Amino acid sequence: MSTIPTATISRLVTYLRILSQLEAQGIKKTSSDHLAEEAQVSAFQVRKDLAYFGRFGTRGAGYSVPTLRRELRRILGLTRAWNVVIVGMGRLGQAIANYPSFDQYDFLLKGVFDIDPSKIGQKILGLEVQHTDALPTVVREKGVDIGLITVPQSAAQDAADALVRAGVKGILNFAPTIINVSREVHVEPVDFLAGLKRLSFYIQNPQLKEELA
Ligand code: NAD
Repeated sequence: MSTIPTATISRLVTYLRILSQLEAQGIKKTSSDHLAEEAQVSAFQVRKDLAYFGRFGTRGAGYSVPTLRRELRRILGLTRAWNVVIVGMGRLGQAIANYPSFDQYDFLLKGVFDIDPSKIGQKILGLEVQHTDALPTVVREKGVDIGLITVPQSAAQDAADALVRAGVKGILNFAPTIINVSREVHVEPVDFLAGLKRLSFYIQNPQLKEELA
């Protein structure tokens, strides 16, 4: 398979959300035009994104909602549950851990970690906060693949190193810094301040908004 643009993967996630909403409404058929309108991209973009992974629709007849939804879930690796841990149980870590629908999306929280002695032993939704020293054991015993980093910027690389040593394969990094990891580990940064800065640019320069591809 050729390299796939990150933006394509982001759009597949959006298409999947749209398909799930259509399925919940009992709608069985859709088209690249409809997906495009809902995702605010062009129909050409939808077809191009899907074409990386094969042929899904029939020319003129559109897509079967359940089939395309099933295929996108398979492509995105969402036909199984993923075990997740959080490192850093401050304001953000606790808010994420307490998010009520976390497991509804098949991301199962298996451990929460910190280094602050006053936090170790506290219970968060039935999970006891453990010292990061326990990461390798928990990752191995619970089969954890993904780690969320919600520590201060200055501690993010240490937290990443601890997660990688413990054996996770992916990191969702909320700390506002770039972390370095080995090539086998994938890092996804999440930064709401970066989103606000992009908004600030587009509000000031509305004429520079990208037209639909
Ligand atoms: P916080 O100070 O409330 O919590 C940080 C926690 O990390 C503390 O409990 C601390 O004891 C723990 N910690 C420190 N070093 C550690 C280490 N090496 N290993 C394990 N735990 C460690 O901070 P917060 O407000 O929850 O923010 C956490 C991070 O998230 C910060 O980097 C912040 O900039 C970032 N943040 C990102 C977004 C976003 O959209 N991405 C939004 C808000 C905050």
